Amino acid sequence: MRTPLVPLAFLVTILTASIAQASNAPTSGVYRMKLGDFEVVALQDAVNPRPLDKLISNPEEIPKAGVAKPDDPVKLQVNAFVVNTGSDLIMVDSGNGGSVGQTVAHLQAAGYRPEQVTMVLLTHLHGDHVGGMTVDGKPTFPNAKVFLEKREADFWIDPEREKTDPRKGGMQKARENLAPYDAAGKLIRFDGVSRIVPGVTVVPAYGHTPGHTAYMLDSKGRKLLVWGDIMHVQQLQLPNPNVSLVFDVDADMARQTRKDFLIKAAAEGYPIAGMHMAWPGIGHIRKSGTGYAWEPMR
Ligand SMILES: [Zn+2]
Repeated sequence: MRTPLVPLAFLVTILTASIAQASNAPTSGVYRMKLGDFEVVALQDAVNPRPLDKLISNPEEIPKAGVAKPDDPVKLQVNAFVVNTGSDLIMVDSGNGGSVGQTVAHLQAAGYRPEQVTMVLLTHLHGDHVGGMTVDGKPTFPNAKVFLEKREADFWIDPEREKTDPRKGGMQKARENLAPYDAAGKLIRFDGVSRIVPGVTVVPAYGHTPGHTAYMLDSKGRKLLVWGDIMHVQQLQLPNPNVSLVFDVDADMARQTRKDFLIKAAAEGYPIAGMHMAWPGIGHIRKSGTGYAWEPMR
């Protein structure tokens, strides 16, 4: 079943109707902002408490963050985002899915239906990003094309390697969650592409996973970088970007990428949207001492 692109007028109607239902209150799980002609909505997926020692792979870096008493367990935020460009309704990641993920519930609270989504851009294939792509084997976003960096697809979706790799559980989950899109010819593995549609640019962010990808949104000169998993535990990784996550496939590369992204976001002043940044997941990065600080959007 395919339907044509959602007409802008229709989306605007829904949008106007939904503003009364979904406020930007911290508890609503929905945060909306204008970016030039685009609308960007943060969708809270989950908040997962995780013991610090199950997250950080180099605990010797923790004291160097200078945090007297880090939160432990960490309340690990999971966010997804939806972007209405006027001609496309674009999800960036899909959250955990299953009984945990609230992304689709919050998408609906924001006034959009999953069938209206025309594109899904995946930052990478960890379960908290790809898990919401299917429900009982059926596509959550039946009318969407799915975009994914080729090296990310190559790493996670390889039935032979899946048999022996220690990450086989995650590989199976990624493969199964993308299977109906792949079977329908709607899974697009991009390679060396810079622009997805006007105002949506690919920004390689390799390290956390082999094809981890950020997406720069740009409308009327206003920019927002959806940076995926550049950072997970901001209370430590902002003051000390050397702190690494157990989930980093290549921790050295991830650390360098994190530093590069922080330098640029602080210097150029555009806001970032992060899948694990504190709600609403969108804010500015400011230089602070030898590290950085977070200014969430209000
Ligand atoms: Zn993640």
